[in-house]
Amino acid sequence: MFDRKRTIRTVDFELPRGAVSIEALMAMPREGWEHLRNEINIRRQAEPARPFARCRLCEAGVFIRAQAVDGGHIPFYAHFPESPKSCPWYEGGNLKPDDARAAQYQGHQESALHRRLCQTIEALAKADPRCVSSAIDTYLRPEIHARGRWPDVYLDMGTFGRFALEIQLSKPFAPEVVARHVHYEREGVRLIWIFRELEDPLPQGFHDVITMQRGNAFVFDNDAEAASIEKGTLILKCYLEDGKGGYLKSRLVTLDDLDITTGLSVFLEDRRSERLVKYCKEVRNRWWQAFQQAKTDKPSSPFYSEKFAPAWASVRSYVPELSAWKENYWASHSDRGQAHLASLFAILCSVAHSAEQDKEVLHITRHSGDGALLAMLNSKLSSATFAPYANLIEAFVTTTPLANLLDRPSLRKIQGNARSAHDQVDREHPVWKALARLFPEALDGMVRAEMADLGRLPKWATGPQALPSS
Ligand SMILES: [Zn+2]
Repeated sequence: MFDRKRTIRTVDFELPRGAVSIEALMAMPREGWEHLRNEINIRRQAEPARPFARCRLCEAGVFIRAQAVDGGHIPFYAHFPESPKSCPWYEGGNLKPDDARAAQYQGHQESALHRRLCQTIEALAKADPRCVSSAIDTYLRPEIHARGRWPDVYLDMGTFGRFALEIQLSKPFAPEVVARHVHYEREGVRLIWIFRELEDPLPQGFHDVITMQRGNAFVFDNDAEAASIEKGTLILKCYLEDGKGGYLKSRLVTLDDLDITTGLSVFLEDRRSERLVKYCKEVRNRWWQAFQQAKTDKPSSPFYSEKFAPAWASVRSYVPELSAWKENYWASHSDRGQAHLASLFAILCSVAHSAEQDKEVLHITRHSGDGALLAMLNSKLSSATFAPYANLIEAFVTTTPLANLLDRPSLRKIQGNARSAHDQVDREHPVWKALARLFPEALDGMVRAEMADLGRLPKWATGPQALPSS
């Protein structure tokens, strides 16, 4: 389908994401690469000289191109037009944004349908008594002066807020989508993209808008128009992503129903963050439930309870290498891998719950009182069983507000001993991968970064608390 020699093979994203191969990109769920695609464009808008993602060979900025295929899109890397043509991975022939925009907008601007929709939507919004003033496209030029950026419909709804409505009939152009979000946020204006319909398949430009709107699509069709006339205010049809590649049953919404408090995006429900939050908790909840049952099943040795079996099966479905590891572990340690992973789960849950609840909560060992968490970590890392996880535990604790535990002399010494006496498991190890699936907010760099961008990291994974400045 494409000439592999002439395609960017590896891209270095700004840390903590790091290198992402073309294979890894193509294996991502749509939401994952769409988020990266928009982050690249947001950065290019704000700081063109500091690309968010760079070609491994020429170090020039790259973006993610969505290639339409049957039933969807495949993501590829592509150089921005100013990249050196001498790069061995340079694919050549990118359309310059200005040319592409000109080509696309020419027909669009003159479209009679577009004109009629703008006028109808403005008239319907003006019927709302809160509407102080309104304008259609070019009239706003003096106020919002950046070149070429004026909304199709502008609404000043008084104390309720100011809105820019983009009525988008043709495929929007990705950098333009992001540019407008950044621009209006700066102006304190809420941007809403309105489509006439949700085509199937939907061109990538529309997907980019839906990504910026956190999985929400707004449509102004005949139903919305009829409802607007009846209610005396602007009503839109809202489609929410169902998380399975489709949409939930549409709902008619007013501007009042929308969340306008969250930075760049206006939405009815944040479907993208919800999807991630669900992904993060899915496997961990199974382990937590198994752990509770195991305590009743085998109070003296819960980690050996067979109640963990379904939880083990759920994480193994994500990390198939666990099966071979479990057999080796039995052969080399005469201990059950499932119980070993359950113990590590209890160690990390102790750290996460203590960080979440601002008090020491232990799920393993009998330490209690002040310093119990430190004492537990010290005793576990002093044992040959858990010493190979000094690096993993450090990586985990670093992502929590309890990161300063790592500065305690006792733990530092024990960590040092563990590292010099035992080979450390690394990120490629099946157990590290399993724990990254159980605690992705902390140990899966891509998930962690996306949740941070969306402002949805749980308290326990928000990293070290800033010290009060003196
Ligand atoms: Zn290059």
